[in-house]
Amino acid sequence: MTRKLYEETPAPLAFTARVTGCEPDQKGYRVTLDATGFFPEGGGQPWDLGTLNGIPVTAVVVQGEEIYHLLPQPLEPGTPVEGIIDGERRLDHCQQHTGEHILSGTLHRLFGANNVGFHIGQPYVRMDLDLPLTTEQLAQAEAQANTVIRRDEPVKVWYPDPEELEALEYRSKKALEGPVRLVEIPGADRCACCGTHLERTGMVGIIKIISAQNYKGGVRLEVACGGRAIPPIQDWYRQITALSGLLSAKVPAVEQAARRMAGENQELKGQLAQLTALLIEAQARDALPGTVQVRFCEGLNPDGLRRLCLALAQRSGALSGAFAAGAQGTHYALALPGGDVRPLAAGLNQRFSGRGGGTPNLCQGCLTQGTPQAIKEYMEELSHADAI
Ligand SMILES: [Zn+2]
Repeated sequence: MTRKLYEETPAPLAFTARVTGCEPDQKGYRVTLDATGFFPEGGGQPWDLGTLNGIPVTAVVVQGEEIYHLLPQPLEPGTPVEGIIDGERRLDHCQQHTGEHILSGTLHRLFGANNVGFHIGQPYVRMDLDLPLTTEQLAQAEAQANTVIRRDEPVKVWYPDPEELEALEYRSKKALEGPVRLVEIPGADRCACCGTHLERTGMVGIIKIISAQNYKGGVRLEVACGGRAIPPIQDWYRQITALSGLLSAKVPAVEQAARRMAGENQELKGQLAQLTALLIEAQARDALPGTVQVRFCEGLNPDGLRRLCLALAQRSGALSGAFAAGAQGTHYALALPGGDVRPLAAGLNQRFSGRGGGTPNLCQGCLTQGTPQAIKEYMEELSHADAI
């Protein structure tokens, strides 16, 4: 059994040990030691990285009682080794893990929510809680969790004896067998945990909830602690500053300005729909029955063209086309009541380098060449063709 140096306080970032085993593996060699400072993957926390005698450690996993270090090169059993842990990665994991304990403990104390899932992922930590929580509740818990950081509380980690454990209340995700390791943060949390932690809460720096969504009757959070909280906050700041400029509103008034703009947008859409309906009605009014209809109607979008074309076809009972200039070319809608308009649309596409298609009743597309006059003349020609 390997001595777990990473459970000591403070956990060493450099250590010496002896190789107890080395076996080939698909990706290299699995090396066991009599003692290790490398935290293996467990409890939602990824493994440590670093080196053993200068050889990179690519993964650390626990299987049964053994901790295996995955290396690209073998190490002879009995060899003394010097282990060096990647300190930045360890600090990041400790910040995320200790921060998660503070936030989970706070959510449990305030609202009775239980953490039922935890994973230190990238770029954020994922936390699943078993109760739905409002934005206000999450904001309250986040604020309280950050006061625990500012109080710079000591983080106590120990294995209580069975009587002491019996008398203590603590959070735990599952029924535990064997010795239970507790992590306690005064005034915030007491939890059974195998992970590495900071010595004091102040080193967490900051806890920021990044997102919350309903999940399995509860809520799934994305959380960033310490150094991970800065990039999203900087990104939000950049975005809100840009929005402030776009909306000509000071930052605290951006939401109000955006809501006002959304309201105005809705109103304008309503007005546009009314005017489009009037325009289509006016354009279709003089369509004589039995005569080919061609309209160039600037300002209509493809949906407006479709509606105008169908209105013309309904009035005339004959080949009808509606056209309007767009960014890519001349948009069109083509209809032929009681016939198949697709060959005519294909002819139009070919004549004016366009593309588009549709059903026998209605085709839509866009032409990249042709003046309104040329298109009109082509449509008149079509009206005399035998096909119609
Ligand atoms: Zn934990």
